[in-house]
Formats: sequence, structure tokens, C-alpha cells
Amino acid sequence: MIHPHAQLKFVNGTIGLGVYASAPIPKGTIVYAADPFEIEITPRQFEVLSDFFKEIAEKYSYIDSRGVRIMSWDLAKYVNHSCDPNTMSTGYGFEIAIKDIAKGEQITDEYGLLNIENEIPLACRCQNCRKVLRPTDIDTYYPIWDTIIKDALDNIRKVPQPLWSLIGKQTKSDLIYYLRTKKRYKSVYTLKYVKTEKQRTARMLSEAATVPI
Ligand SMILES: [Zn+2]
Repeated sequence: MIHPHAQLKFVNGTIGLGVYASAPIPKGTIVYAADPFEIEITPRQFEVLSDFFKEIAEKYSYIDSRGVRIMSWDLAKYVNHSCDPNTMSTGYGFEIAIKDIAKGEQITDEYGLLNIENEIPLACRCQNCRKVLRPTDIDTYYPIWDTIIKDALDNIRKVPQPLWSLIGKQTKSDLIYYLRTKKRYKSVYTLKYVKTEKQRTARMLSEAATVPI
């Protein structure tokens, strides 16, 4: 579910629809959290879809760390990518505003954290645009993204959180522990879907090397 201060608008003929803030959303606000109505499509369910529905699923869903496609029932599925986004997925599962979002500003997200399967040419034309989204972007940029998210997390208890009730008990507990101690931060790298045991081991080693305990 997306933050209640979100509305759908037409962006342009190339991009299509986008989601805009209908009121200011301060940095540190949880902007998206999965809820019980999300449609979940497992890899096996995706495989047997016709090309028509595969295309819809690819356009409107993200892939979580289990490899399951999550397609939101609400406006969340229309949020566009930007290489200079104002929200970002966190290792805690929800998305957070990484800067203050003004009323009327488009809400954008970093698709590099959504386990895209193929390269996607970009039409965002933002400053420092990467031009192409790559499945390996998370490997390249996760340390930078973690720094940005840690900064936003510092605001999480200072701003209104209308989606707080959607956050699970364990996640809240992990988050509160991190905020209190600055230890056991959950990196965005944990969002990466790793298919094989070898890849899972490499990720665990990488986390152990980068996440302070
Ligand atoms: Zn860009």
C-alpha cells in the first residue's frame, strides 16, 4: 500500500502514468509497505502465464528476495523509476522517502532494488542518469544506497507514519534495535533475489564484510 498522500496522474506519452504527492511527504516517511491485498506471483505461476499477462506482470510488479513477484492492488504499481529518486526500498521491506517530497512532486523509486531480470533503457533523463537499468546495479550501488537509507532512517521516528501498522512485529523490532544501537543494520543487498546456493553464500559473505555487528 502506498502512502495516503499519493495520486495518479498522466506524466507524458513516453512514460504514461505516474504517482504524485498530494501533500508534502517528509524525509523518513514510509511511502510503501506490502499489505495483505498484494498479489503474489511465484516463479512457477509466472512461467505458465500467457505472454500477454507476463508483460503486465513485468510492467507492474517487483520481485522480492524470495523471487516472488509482488503486484500492488493500489497506486504503488504506477510509481516510476528515477536515477535520482525520492523514495527507495530498504532492507526492512518497506520503501522510505529519502528526501522531503513536495506537494505536486512525482514520487519516484530506484528500480535497481526491485530485481529486474533484463536491462531496461531509461527515459527518466534525470541528472546523472544511468541511461540503462541493469540487474547488476544492486551489486554496484548498494553501499551508496545503504548510506542514503541510513540517513533517512534517522528521521523515521520524527515524522508521521500512516503506514506504520503495516510493518510486521519482527521488522519493527529489528528496526528499533538498529535505531537505538546503530548495530545490525539490514542492508538493501538483502533484497537481492539469489537463485543458487553459491550466490546465497556469496551474499552472506558480502553482508558479513559490510554490515557492522
Ligand atoms: Zn535516469
